[in-house]
Amino acid sequence: ALSLRLEQVGNFVPDHARLADIGSDHAYLPVALMLQKKIQYAVAGEVVQGPYESACKQVKKNKLTDKITVRLANGLKAIEESDQIDTVTICGMGGTLIRQILEEGQNHLTGRERLILQPNVGEATLRDWLIQHDYTIIAEEILEENQKIYEIIVAEKLAQVVKLTAKELMFGPYLMREINPIFLKKWHRELNQRLKVKEQLAQSKNAHSEKIAELNQQIAWIKEVVES
Ligand code: SAM
Repeated sequence: ALSLRLEQVGNFVPDHARLADIGSDHAYLPVALMLQKKIQYAVAGEVVQGPYESACKQVKKNKLTDKITVRLANGLKAIEESDQIDTVTICGMGGTLIRQILEEGQNHLTGRERLILQPNVGEATLRDWLIQHDYTIIAEEILEENQKIYEIIVAEKLAQVVKLTAKELMFGPYLMREINPIFLKKWHRELNQRLKVKEQLAQSKNAHSEKIAELNQQIAWIKEVVES
């Protein structure tokens, strides 16, 4: 069975999708969705030899070699035009790496794909990239599994671009409006972390006025959001 995290990612994959799962590791996500008959075709992309071989084994073991193509490739280079991919998942990495994969692989996208992204950290920088490249965030999810909190961001290019404020980039435009207990837990943690860092900076001999000002802004925003 899939982890709760990947199961929730799978919930955003449209029925009959042609999926590219980038950084697929064991190809658990495409294999599970194919066994559920939710998707019609998938590419599992991996840049590292070991995980690439794990993905190949997993696909073979489930007798899905005709429906899931495993490719050893860097980022979106795993996608070929003939694949007719309409959905891309990039999960379980930092937001900065996901951003870099999107930035470097833009020419492998048509712009009509749904992107389903699950950054482990660095959500704001990823949202920022999406908005700068005319994607609109159409859904978000926050979940907890094994004491870790994960966010899922779903984006598409729509006729009208919806820009985000700095606050929405930080918290997530949907997550900050449907505040749930996991969201509160995450931002209480983030608040305490920032308070600690601020204290350390204040005690150090060097001047950190810019960093402290930035922390103060974020601390104020977090207090506003969690206390509202
Ligand atoms: N997506 C799976 C998940 O969410 O459970 C696996 C996550 S695993 C922590 C991250 C995987 O991404 C690793 O197997 C790593 O080799 C792969 N990866 C990292 N950078 C990549 C890139 N530029 N292109 C393709 N795969 C990449």
